[in-house]
Amino acid sequence: MPTPNIKLPNMDHYWVPFTANRQFKAMPRLFKAAKGNYFTTMDDRQILDGTAGLWCVPAGHGREEIAAAVGNQLRTLDYAPAFQTSHPLAFEAAERVAQYMPAGLDRIFFTNSGSESVETALKIALAYHRVCGNPLRNKLIGRERGYHGVNFGGIAVGGIAGNRKAFGNALAGVDHIRHPLDIVNNAFTKGVPEDGGIALANEFEQRIMTLHDPATIASLIVEPMQGSAGVIVPPKNYLKRLREICTKHGILLIFDEVITGFGRLGTRFGADYFDVIPDIITCAKGLTNGVVPMGAVAVKREIYDAFMENSAANAIELPHGYTYSAIPIACAAAIATLDIFANEKLEDRGASLSGRLESAAHSLKGLPMVKDIRNIGLVAGIEFEAIAGKPGAMSFATYLKCYEMGVHVRYTGDIIAVSPPLTIEPHEIDRIFSTIADAIKFVVAAGD
Ligand code: PLP
Repeated sequence: MPTPNIKLPNMDHYWVPFTANRQFKAMPRLFKAAKGNYFTTMDDRQILDGTAGLWCVPAGHGREEIAAAVGNQLRTLDYAPAFQTSHPLAFEAAERVAQYMPAGLDRIFFTNSGSESVETALKIALAYHRVCGNPLRNKLIGRERGYHGVNFGGIAVGGIAGNRKAFGNALAGVDHIRHPLDIVNNAFTKGVPEDGGIALANEFEQRIMTLHDPATIASLIVEPMQGSAGVIVPPKNYLKRLREICTKHGILLIFDEVITGFGRLGTRFGADYFDVIPDIITCAKGLTNGVVPMGAVAVKREIYDAFMENSAANAIELPHGYTYSAIPIACAAAIATLDIFANEKLEDRGASLSGRLESAAHSLKGLPMVKDIRNIGLVAGIEFEAIAGKPGAMSFATYLKCYEMGVHVRYTGDIIAVSPPLTIEPHEIDRIFSTIADAIKFVVAAGD
């Protein structure tokens, strides 16, 4: 925490998002600089970044290549209208993103965030069925505990109650299937659980046959690994079976890869990790190494072609877009980030460190209050026993103690999530988890 002689900014005006403002402003955690795998606090402490920012800085902080590309771009072409005109870098960035995507997903729509990518993907799914002459395919399916950002489509298909209930009914025509977490049978599984995937996916088919006509379903959206709800790793064959069911019934399968994209699982995308190709991929975050807001939606070429072939000449095929879609500095940042990925093979680095992270995470098994540990690629989640009447109290206290001890982790519900930059060093991985272990012991001993 900042020492008392640090001059803090006026805290009155900024409404901090997704944060308990009163608690935060009483005990602010402010970073003034970042380099490599570390933040610097207002009082000059180094905090190891165990979360790659908000899962969004895979290449580590303060990358000079990205800063130079953004600075140069800003001085050359600061802005070009995103509608009715464009600029060459937008096309170059789209080509580079298309080359980075799984084969076939090579038509790219740019947005400014993960939430906007999700809204865009859902709208493309609905509009696609219309341009193909199927306007009755208008239902959207998501999953319990799914997180798809904060806009209306995203909270509607999302399944985190706390993010929805403050806002009323969100969208109509939305249903949810079960999430794949099975702590009863799979607690402390290392990596991908073996069993139950097919049966769980089959529940999706049963549900749409029983409660809906499958011919009314536009799309199913899933995160290949559910991140924000607490690192939920799907069992083997689950996503493959969902793919088969969607194909059989003409339903578009959307992978929301805002977290799992750009090396997080040790592969480019979750689609690559699980060897399942969806129809649409949403991404953001790591696309620009978190430096400039940018998201992207990649669609199969057939989807793009359907819009081009079935719309009247000179008509706007998709009436959708943002003032800042493909803004030049974001394109420059994305290209520089993809260059770093190519030069440093960051996905391979993530894959090679995943064993170290797995052992370090699972070494916490047996500590008091630890109910489950889950991991995949460079992600781990530690779930605590729920305390009646105090949801999230253990994870929040553990998070605060870690911060005090110089390690930044994330808490979500009763879970601590770890997702370091792919540039993390093995000894830093060990430090993250030994700090969490010490924090847990401290919190339990203090009886918080
Ligand atoms: N989708 C997923 C899977 C996410 O994890 C997130 C953010 O964490 C989003 C969408 C929303 O992204 P953003 O915060 O950039 O709007």
